[in-house]
Amino acid sequence: METHLADFIKGTRAGQEAEAILRACVHCGFCTATCPTYQVLGDELDGPRGRIYLIKSVLEGEEPTAKTQLHLDRCLNCRSCETTCPSGVHYSRLLDIGREVVDAKVPRKGRDRLLRGVLRNALPRAGLFGAALRLGRLVRPLLPRVLQAKVPERTGAGTRPSNTHERKMIELAGCVQPSMYPNINAAAARVLDRLGITLLDAPGVGCCGAVRFHLNDVEAAREDARRLIDAWLPLLEAGAEAIVMTASGCGVHVRDYGHLLQDDPAYASKAARVAAAVRDLSEVIAKEQEPLTALLEGTRKDRQGVATAFHSPCTLQHGQQIRGVVEGLLRAAGFTPRPVSNGHMCCGAAGSYSILEPELAEQLRDLKVESLTAGSPIVIVSANAGCIAHLQAGTPVPVQHWIELIDQSLSV
Ligand code: SF4
Ligand code: SF4
Repeated sequence: METHLADFIKGTRAGQEAEAILRACVHCGFCTATCPTYQVLGDELDGPRGRIYLIKSVLEGEEPTAKTQLHLDRCLNCRSCETTCPSGVHYSRLLDIGREVVDAKVPRKGRDRLLRGVLRNALPRAGLFGAALRLGRLVRPLLPRVLQAKVPERTGAGTRPSNTHERKMIELAGCVQPSMYPNINAAAARVLDRLGITLLDAPGVGCCGAVRFHLNDVEAAREDARRLIDAWLPLLEAGAEAIVMTASGCGVHVRDYGHLLQDDPAYASKAARVAAAVRDLSEVIAKEQEPLTALLEGTRKDRQGVATAFHSPCTLQHGQQIRGVVEGLLRAAGFTPRPVSNGHMCCGAAGSYSILEPELAEQLRDLKVESLTAGSPIVIVSANAGCIAHLQAGTPVPVQHWIELIDQSLSV
């Protein structure tokens, strides 16, 4: 697509990136068919091709309006369009650039501004978020409906293994996950322990920065990234094999640290080193499939035919292009993952999207729950705490992280 960028962005790093992305787009519209917001709203400007057109106009000098901002806000950044695009258009990067420019020109007001400020400051602080969650559980009936659904019941974490193995990997505990679902990281540590791997926690690292990045506080997100890099690099240098992500939303963001800090001379190469060490938990476990199968062998028949449904988060299947791995692990463990129609579609959780755009998020969740429950699973599993909480609010079928099923199977 031919572009003529305006002076304010022409020649800048962001401008060059945007220009290359825009040139790759041939405006074919294939991506529109797999865009969740286009499917729900039916407006070209709520699909990828329309949003690309809007961003192009703004970068060419057209003044954005609140309507431009609304169409970009409604984008889930699910990246389904990137998976579909035959020309390899890096839409999500263009969206980041477009949102930054539009937000600078169209200041947010009132409730929207306040809500974004609260989310930026509360979600990444694990201690503050944990206290808010405890309070939320106490006053759940008084909360607005959209927040009630975000407050899961309290669950235990079980015991963390105390063995020390020669093989070590690093975990990212995360910011909201330890308070919402403490069993996920503990289950990952127990399964890896059975496979002869110690999961190290770098204390106090906190949020990976994804929350602030997607709320357009890019400088704060860079600070988050630097803090994690400083905590992790010594562990990598001491021989840790990988940085394991139990939440795919964090994984996709940390894999991008090299890009985020590319202009920081003190951190660019460190960031690239850290990003290269990131592995989704499913990739790690899949590499250990042989010993895992041996461990599970004695109890496999107990689970034969137990119907599950796997919701693959967009950050796993589109963002990290990891597909079929979790389903393979579930099958190897004796479960029967049911086929899920429209598996490429986002569930509507999308980080803080379900709070900022609750109506759309609920519509998408209901469509997703319908697909996931069509095969009457007794449990739904996913790979990201945000998706788990969002889906659980829309179905009585229990929703868990897939590693919890593997952990339970090993404990039988
Ligand atoms: S992003 Fe890709 S699929 Fe969508 S219109 Fe452009 S070239 Fe076509
Ligand atoms: S990222 Fe998702 S919601 Fe946004 S345009 Fe692409 S497919 Fe549509």
